[in-house]
Amino acid sequence: MISVAEAQARILADLRPTPAEIVGLSEALGRVVAADVRARLTQPPADLSAMDGYAVKSADAEKGAILRLIGSAPAGHPFSGTLEHGQAVRIFTGSVIPQGADAVLIQEDAARDGECVHVRESVRPGRHIRRAGQDFRAGEVVIPKGKKLTPRDIGLAAAANYPWLFVHRRPRVAVLSTGDEIALPGEPIPEGGIVSSNAHALAALIRAGGGEPIVLPIARDDVGVIAEAANAAAGADLLVSTGGVSVGEHDLVQSGLSKLGFEVDFWRIAMRPGKPLMYGRMGETPVLGLPGNPVSALVCGLLFLWPLLLGLSGLTPEPPATTRARLGAPLGANDKRMDFLRARLSRAEDGSWVATAFPVQDSAMLKLLAEADCLILRPPHAPAAATGESVEVLRFAAFGL
Ligand code: AMP
Ligand code: MG
Repeated sequence: MISVAEAQARILADLRPTPAEIVGLSEALGRVVAADVRARLTQPPADLSAMDGYAVKSADAEKGAILRLIGSAPAGHPFSGTLEHGQAVRIFTGSVIPQGADAVLIQEDAARDGECVHVRESVRPGRHIRRAGQDFRAGEVVIPKGKKLTPRDIGLAAAANYPWLFVHRRPRVAVLSTGDEIALPGEPIPEGGIVSSNAHALAALIRAGGGEPIVLPIARDDVGVIAEAANAAAGADLLVSTGGVSVGEHDLVQSGLSKLGFEVDFWRIAMRPGKPLMYGRMGETPVLGLPGNPVSALVCGLLFLWPLLLGLSGLTPEPPATTRARLGAPLGANDKRMDFLRARLSRAEDGSWVATAFPVQDSAMLKLLAEADCLILRPPHAPAAATGESVEVLRFAAFGL
């Protein structure tokens, strides 16, 4: 058995992001840029006014002076002449500053009387002018490679004159559920069987993590059938299976995939839930063999599939930020496996978090998992902890889930 941290490190070693594709800016939100985005123009393109008012020579615009209005330059209609001493040009926010002017007298500080502009407040040189290139210059990197695009980045890319961007292709993730006893929701359920919740839960997780799930047909517990089903994952960036990896069964998925050249990197992690997790590669394609129990599959999905999705998407996966919380109920001592306890959070009177683990932690109980909003992390061999003691907590909200 290896530790959770070692398993995470081994999974991310040598992981190659998906190739780039071009997408329109309206499709680019949440995607990861595959190449530095360099501005295709300088912004602002020229010295522009930041206010409505009058373009002036600051040396003339002393309080009490009277300037002569010689024209108007609305935004998008630059003034063609040159401003001489004693003159003013009417301008607006976004107007190009006329030649000869070096400041903007805001209209609140001016009084207009026909062609005369009375200066009510003196103006400093450069006042209310946005300099050319003040935001960015042509050729400058405005969005670095590997950044996940936010609405702010989309605006910036548009301003830098990009109608499209190079982004990493969404990772295609094949999901293979195994088991004689399972059926997809809505399909006939074998006698004594259950509905396969894993395929849907994982597909949703994959979508939330920026991937494109490909749900394969359920494979019966048969090496040949598993191999045939997994064959349909050709072309995927990652294959995720569930079930058929526990002690009595581990040969099933492993043997099935071996027929397709699968080589195991590690199997079994010192954690609960999810000990029988398996990881390896089938040719170039990484394969994550998740346990069948729905809670194990999802908890392991967050810990191992999520960083895989980020890495394949071109991001640098960081461990999700954990929070400290005080225990709402005592916990017993832990054994050698790291424990991830399903728990509910509430706020204490002082605003700090209180985490209360569910008394039942069965890894098949999906309703409790759905009701939980965090996992309490219990390191191996953690001693018993009393109510009020501080523990580390992983909030589902840290994943936006
Ligand atoms: P296994 O890892 O195949 O031994 O499965 C462990 C437990 O998870 C068994 O009780 C299975 O019935 C259950 N299980 C396996 N696959 C699924 C699935 N796709 N959805 C829900 N439960 C499953
Ligand atoms: Mg099974």
